[in-house]
Amino acid sequence: MNIRRWIAPAALALAALPAGAQDFSKVEIRTTKLSDTTYMMQGAGGNLGLSVGEDDVFLIDDQFAPLSQKITAAIAKLTAKPVRFILNTHWHSDHTGGNENFGKAGAILVAHENVRHRMSTEQFIEFIQAKEPPAPKVALPVVTFAQSVTFHLNGDEIRVTHIPRAHTDGDAIVHFVKSDVIHMGDVFFNGMYPFIDTSSGGTVDGVIAGCDQALAIAKDSTQIIPGHGPLGSRADLKAYRDMLAAVSARVKKLVGEGRKVDEIKAANVSADYDEKWGKGFIKPDRFAEMLAVNILRNR
Ligand SMILES: [Zn+2]
Repeated sequence: MNIRRWIAPAALALAALPAGAQDFSKVEIRTTKLSDTTYMMQGAGGNLGLSVGEDDVFLIDDQFAPLSQKITAAIAKLTAKPVRFILNTHWHSDHTGGNENFGKAGAILVAHENVRHRMSTEQFIEFIQAKEPPAPKVALPVVTFAQSVTFHLNGDEIRVTHIPRAHTDGDAIVHFVKSDVIHMGDVFFNGMYPFIDTSSGGTVDGVIAGCDQALAIAKDSTQIIPGHGPLGSRADLKAYRDMLAAVSARVKKLVGEGRKVDEIKAANVSADYDEKWGKGFIKPDRFAEMLAVNILRNR
């Protein structure tokens, strides 16, 4: 195993989890049934989405490499079939860390073209000062798309849509039309301030636009899987979108007034939202700092 490959992003993702969760041997994969054919699975790293049924097994994201066997075992409780397709919502290795294992096992890896590009080359996530080496060939998406791709599986229509420059420059959201389920990837952090990866081409305006796109197709009954956090609803996504729009507007105003990043970091711009959203792994001052840098770089 390439230690560097998971230590750095693990630090990012696992900071949200209880102490000791870095030991993957303790991680359990929890499965939540959402419809006749779709499931949400949670272990460590990004939330998984799954479609099983009369056709092929379709998996969204694959967390960290040490969890591949546990994920495979959890899926085996639902179907005897192997994973045929994996859709990566973006390149971060708390969502793609299992690609190498599943790729070797014969799964077809699918992602936006920028996911393949970033996984093929060394990356540096500036916000957490983490360097990521290129992934081995077997871990790279073999099918890429620029705008959208649709899977017709298990009686469902699974629509995958690229969200430009949101959490990264390669995000996709996935709509299971019949099952009335949407997987948002890291465009949606449910109940906590999000990480927006400026150094991977992410922008706060892109995240807000991605939320608006999902809100336009979601119904009150739609179950929404966030990249991180508990299963959400349309109302949860709307509250998140409105929080992001309000706080980023305040930061934009301060940036426009010529305030420096450190001043914005210290300005309590999100004070009225911190009780509800500020207890995840991005604390309020870091959230303000992240937004300030993101807005300054993308002016
Ligand atoms: Zn991510």
